[in-house]
Amino acid sequence: MTGRIHSFESFGAVDGPGVRYVVFFQGCPLRCMFCHNPDTWESDAGEEYTPEDVVRKILPFRNFYDHGGGVTLSGGEPLMQLDFAAELLDRLKEEGLHTAVDTSAAIPLEKARKAIDAADMLLLDFKAFDSALCEKITGRPHILEQEKEYLEYCQSTGKKVWIRHVIVPGLTLNETHLKALGEYLHRFSCVDKIEPLAFHKMGEFKWQKELYKLSATEPPSAGDMKKVSELLRSY
Ligand code: SF4
Repeated sequence: MTGRIHSFESFGAVDGPGVRYVVFFQGCPLRCMFCHNPDTWESDAGEEYTPEDVVRKILPFRNFYDHGGGVTLSGGEPLMQLDFAAELLDRLKEEGLHTAVDTSAAIPLEKARKAIDAADMLLLDFKAFDSALCEKITGRPHILEQEKEYLEYCQSTGKKVWIRHVIVPGLTLNETHLKALGEYLHRFSCVDKIEPLAFHKMGEFKWQKELYKLSATEPPSAGDMKKVSELLRSY
């Protein structure tokens, strides 16, 4: 079995707990307006690896990941390559490495379950806490509903989840939505952390110019992000 990988990062510090090896999967069915990795979208790009190839790349560095860190499958959408992701997670577990999957719930839960079950934790991206806005941002319907289903499933199985939410002025920097999202998330004991992430334009150069709609949008201010933390009660 092989999977298509966009790239690897040996010392990730922002994709889950501790120091992590991050495997960026190739392919994503969403088209988020603020995506900074549009080069991961096409599923036939990247390079092919077997799960064993990926494990072999990680093992020489494993001492770095043994003290509260681990391996994160990110992307793109790692659960698009479900069988490959599940097998890789199983292999990493056999090696005693902690695993996380960074997902946007773009794949329906019935299909994604086996990879979710195989991971130690999820980093679950909530794109917007409003169905119409979520569809506008991602280009696909029902993503918010699928994100909620993933979270409910993790609650039922006791799987730890970190929530990530990108704050974009004019889109998700919305007091009503943020307050509602904070109230919703605090009902789930599986949610271990809520991470609001400030929108940035570092990936803009990777976009086809005519498709990028946020050229005129500035990142949120430090004051905005403080207010967001209060609304989400993420501190
Ligand atoms: S889910 Fe992630 S990789 Fe896919 S379009 Fe959205 S931000 Fe980009």
